[in-house]
Amino acid sequence: MDFPFPEPPPPGRWTEVAPGLLWARLALPFRLDHVNVYALEDSSGWVILDTGIADEASRAAWDALLPALGPVGAVLVTHHHPDHIGLAGWLCERLSVPLWTSRTAFLSATALAHAPGLLEAEEYGRLYAAHGMPPALADRVRTLGHAYLRRLTLPPRTYRRLSAGMRLRLGGRDWSVLSADGHAPEQILLHAPADGLLIAADQVIERISPNVSASAFEPEGDPVGEFRAGLAMLGREVGEGALVLPGHRRPFRGLHERIAELDRHHEARCDLIRAACAERPRTAAELLPVVFPRPLDPHKTGFAVGEVIAHANHLVARGLLRWEESGGLRRLAA
Ligand SMILES: [Zn+2]
Repeated sequence: MDFPFPEPPPPGRWTEVAPGLLWARLALPFRLDHVNVYALEDSSGWVILDTGIADEASRAAWDALLPALGPVGAVLVTHHHPDHIGLAGWLCERLSVPLWTSRTAFLSATALAHAPGLLEAEEYGRLYAAHGMPPALADRVRTLGHAYLRRLTLPPRTYRRLSAGMRLRLGGRDWSVLSADGHAPEQILLHAPADGLLIAADQVIERISPNVSASAFEPEGDPVGEFRAGLAMLGREVGEGALVLPGHRRPFRGLHERIAELDRHHEARCDLIRAACAERPRTAAELLPVVFPRPLDPHKTGFAVGEVIAHANHLVARGLLRWEESGGLRRLAA
């Protein structure tokens, strides 16, 4: 992989990564300590792409970043996670501009902003209990582990829907709208084939494998299968030479290599789980140290157990393992 912009933009400053396409970074109060945002110049105003989490540091960063742009025409959000959509409501109101995003991101963010208690809902307790997590840990994970998802401002009540297959003419470039599931449902990506540019959101990132978790609200879902389908779609749609502009870390070239690495990573996780379940049936809680050998805090345990259940569901969906239920517990069996 090749990194044409090895140094991230300094705080509060834009870096031009292509004519009329700017990159900046906002801080995040997590181990992954930043999110990338972009701005696309257009004759009808700049389009801001992703917004940072709803906190004072990100608002202050926008105070520094906005004066460097001309008039803004829209705020485009790739997916409903708070590091991307967190300040969309605040920015749209402050700038009097519309929100552009997928229908799923709009509805998810609206639901979470109105009902933050959803994240601590009993459904998570039941999911974790069924997968063998001790009750005290399950309580900590569903409260502390999900707190970050509440860090968003109420989105505007109306939006412009973006969906796969649409074309956008922005800044003299033709962009195709792509969407991929698995990390977040209906995550929006933008591809400008003639210019070799891919705004990739969190679908492909250097070094980090984007979190792919089962949701308590869709406990049988196969987000790993959806994520891998998204990788395959990118491999078909986007050429190897494209400059990839991701939601975190650095822009890079080498998309196809990264797609292959991410796909292998998920297959390797599946292999670990299959090997452990070949000895005897196991709950997701028992598989947690198999997949994540190091100790985890509640925030990371939430991600980790969601990942284990997601890979378990993927193996079941492929017919490679099956669920056994007894005594209120689900065990994954060969
Ligand atoms: Zn993200």
